[in-house]
Amino acid sequence: MKNENNQRERLWNETSGHCAYCGHPVSLEEMEVDHIVPKSMGGSNGFNNLVCTCHHCNAEKGPDLLEEYLMDWSEKRLRRYHNRIETWLEQGRISLEKADALTPLDRMPERDEPFPLEGGFLSVAIFFSPC
Ligand SMILES: [Zn+2]
Repeated sequence: MKNENNQRERLWNETSGHCAYCGHPVSLEEMEVDHIVPKSMGGSNGFNNLVCTCHHCNAEKGPDLLEEYLMDWSEKRLRRYHNRIETWLEQGRISLEKADALTPLDRMPERDEPFPLEGGFLSVAIFFSPC
């Protein structure tokens, strides 16, 4: 399955061989492919819905929506995650569409955004600013 291998390699290169969620290096052989929007929730197999992860994070996220998974994270962990995605975006590694998909916190329930931002990528930093 050459195409499948190419896609794995593209996904792996996208995060320069790091797990998107924890940032730890992962080999091309070890990497797992996470569906950002789970297949059970209607997520596609398209490139923009897939991301390179380590086994630990992929297992931890399980069938949860990304925003549910991120909701359990500490502020520090979220900041580091956000910074990583911002860096990959600045380096032109990941698409804006995927960066947005990876930072869905504007859709998190029970919290109001303190500023009238459009949401998505940049709202993460605002969301978790100390009060
Ligand atoms: Zn990980």
